[in-house]
Amino acid sequence: MLRKHNERETLVFNVQKCSIHDGPGIRTLVFLKGCPMRCLWCANPESQEYGLEIAETESRCIGCNVCMEECPRGCIVRREDGRGMIDRSRCDLCGVCTEACYARSKRFVGEARSVAELTEAIARDRTYYTNSGGGVTFSGGEPLTHPEFLLEAARSCKELGISVAVETCGCADYDDFAPALAYIDDIFFDVKHIDSQRHRQLTGKGNEKIIENLLKISASGHSMTVRVPVVPGCNDETENLEGIARLAASVPGVREVELLAYHALGEHKYAMLGREYPLKGLQTPPDETMYGYVDLMNKILHPAGKACRFEGKN
Ligand code: SF4
Ligand code: SF4
Ligand code: SF4
Repeated sequence: MLRKHNERETLVFNVQKCSIHDGPGIRTLVFLKGCPMRCLWCANPESQEYGLEIAETESRCIGCNVCMEECPRGCIVRREDGRGMIDRSRCDLCGVCTEACYARSKRFVGEARSVAELTEAIARDRTYYTNSGGGVTFSGGEPLTHPEFLLEAARSCKELGISVAVETCGCADYDDFAPALAYIDDIFFDVKHIDSQRHRQLTGKGNEKIIENLLKISASGHSMTVRVPVVPGCNDETENLEGIARLAASVPGVREVELLAYHALGEHKYAMLGREYPLKGLQTPPDETMYGYVDLMNKILHPAGKACRFEGKN
């Protein structure tokens, strides 16, 4: 049976080993479940809810009927093609169908992990971190909204000599996560829109707390990479990119800006959670367009001794 999590644990929805993209060297990425924002382009919708969810992989369902017979609430509906799909308005996440389905069409997203279990899993790759200058990166969801877990996990890793990085949207309470900063070496801090009202339209939250946290983290002596996911029609206007560049240029703790091109790789996950993808049909901006944005931002960043970068496909 599924183990429910207690206050000493948190829900982790993925542990990805041997990553080379989210921080220096070879890294283990730990994705914590739960985020206060709802970005229209989110590539990890399974990270947004703090609680467990069930994902359904439609293509795996062989229409065997077992889950429909075993669901205690009778809320798995047989479609015309024979596949059984959950009526989520009635599901209480009992998990019976996840155990009944041999085809693994239905599965829980999120697994309760303790700091000790997680640290042990991370430490298994210590040799790779040492040889490559890598470590662990806590991501999400929003890792700073798990302050106690993050503090303990980051401290445990540091005690083993493992470098710790965090990827954050900055939308968390500073006083809660500040103690963990002492054990964090590297911070990748998202700034998605400089205008708070537009930020709210795009992500569900204004940006005041985020910018305040950027300033406070900088004042605490940490250095950060500001990351901007560039999403066509959402935040790629010149005034926005220039505004973010001006902010990054003025904050001492920001050492560089990295642009990330929008992609739709997470689109299929929305269907797995019974949700609509909000940006259907939106295309990835071409590399040349992205390099144009880099030049635009560098006009503001270079005089401040900083730079913007983008790693294109070519
Ligand atoms: S902040 Fe990140 S995890 Fe949260 S909704 Fe936005 S893209 Fe998704
Ligand atoms: S048990 Fe699995 S394979 Fe069988 S109908 Fe249900 S979801 Fe489909
Ligand atoms: S989790 Fe339980 S209630 Fe929900 S669909 Fe599966 S068996 Fe039914």
